[in-house]
Amino acid sequence: MNNVRFTLKDFNQCFATDENCLEYLFNARYPNGVFCPKCQKVTKYYKRAGKKDYVCEFCSSSVSPTVNTIFQKSETSLKSWFYAMFLMSTTKTGISAKQLQRELGVTYKTAWRMFKEIRKLMTDNVNPLSGQVEVDETYVGGKRAGARGRGASGKTIVMGMVERDGNAITHIIPDVKAHTLLPMIAQNVEKSNKTVVYTDELRSYNNVERLGYSHEIVQHSAKQYVNGIVHVNTMESLWGTIKRGIDGVNHSVSPLYLQSYLDSYIYRYNHRKDETPMFLSLLNQVSKVVPT
Ligand SMILES: [Zn+2]
Repeated sequence: MNNVRFTLKDFNQCFATDENCLEYLFNARYPNGVFCPKCQKVTKYYKRAGKKDYVCEFCSSSVSPTVNTIFQKSETSLKSWFYAMFLMSTTKTGISAKQLQRELGVTYKTAWRMFKEIRKLMTDNVNPLSGQVEVDETYVGGKRAGARGRGASGKTIVMGMVERDGNAITHIIPDVKAHTLLPMIAQNVEKSNKTVVYTDELRSYNNVERLGYSHEIVQHSAKQYVNGIVHVNTMESLWGTIKRGIDGVNHSVSPLYLQSYLDSYIYRYNHRKDETPMFLSLLNQVSKVVPT
């Protein structure tokens, strides 16, 4: 992932204190200044000493940059929140709530709540996939290897869709039946006969064409793993990385944690070509909602 780097050193320089973080939020949320409702114009707002808000230079109107953000009702310091976001967006293999707990010195309950909130920011809306889209499923966790769709007890099934050279989407699914897989494709892939959906020969995919896509099938059983452009190699290599990450970081992953892990991994994958460092994109995401 060749994302522009925002290093730990950068972080420590920019966000050394809670005040730095608050100021960053203030500027991000009010890039054009604050329109004071009392003065009926954009005025200068000054940080109130010891408080988390800014006050109009002429009257007593104030704004708080943390309103309507994940930070608003939290006892945890802004700097810890920022650091958690930094870790979650920059740690290549992903980071667990447990690791956040250790890094931040907060309780597990707090770490888990932060983890959940930050993860939500990472499930940003990806446009429907289009062009050449590979679709595949995989089994995560559990000890026994089971037949596909059967005997997979203790395993969680994950469905993945990836646009070649584009974004990816993954979801935990209950089974690999057509009525589960096909609606997922319909929801996440642009409907057009110019969109080519690549799957393997699993029967549940038989009716992909009827959804309005072109459909190419990889014949795994015929040992025909790579037939020119007919393959699901992009998705398979993504599964490989995701599974190595799970082994390295989480050892075993409950389904609840798995979706979190997938979301943050896919977020980093989908932002791999961004010019803006991922951490700053994430911060922008927080400050998108401007209170009225
Ligand atoms: Zn005013």
